[in-house]
Amino acid sequence: MHCPFCKAPDTRVIDSRLSGDNDQVRRRRECTECGDRFTTYETAELNLPRVIKQDGSRQAFDEDKLRSGLCKALEKRPVSMEQIEFAISRIKHNLLAAGEREVDARRIGEWVMDELRELDHVAYIRFASVYLSFEDVDAFREAIEKLEQ
Ligand SMILES: [Zn+2]
Repeated sequence: MHCPFCKAPDTRVIDSRLSGDNDQVRRRRECTECGDRFTTYETAELNLPRVIKQDGSRQAFDEDKLRSGLCKALEKRPVSMEQIEFAISRIKHNLLAAGEREVDARRIGEWVMDELRELDHVAYIRFASVYLSFEDVDAFREAIEKLEQ
């Protein structure tokens, strides 16, 4: 790898360790020319499946949309941004672990409900009432029952 400072073609790795959730390799490198040090991060490139919407159309998974949906449900609730990020990474993990090229939007909605049920009951009800819509009374009642368990 080129040195980002002097562009020398050769740098050597002086330290290598796992970081993040052990899904990232962090490397300290040193330029053999100017001696400056820098850090690189290496992660596996994984493709998230596409999302099948209720009308049958397909869309790329939108992490920002997921984040804003969670934040909206959790507005003014005692849940930190860090907890929200953990929930998002678990949902993404579910998506990858599904090992499919396409995943039903409904399944993602269920994963979101699972996360919210753990995080905050008010947010869970908020999300369920919008997501399941009041027309689907049975599904909504089921959601409430899950909370009572
Ligand atoms: Zn250099």
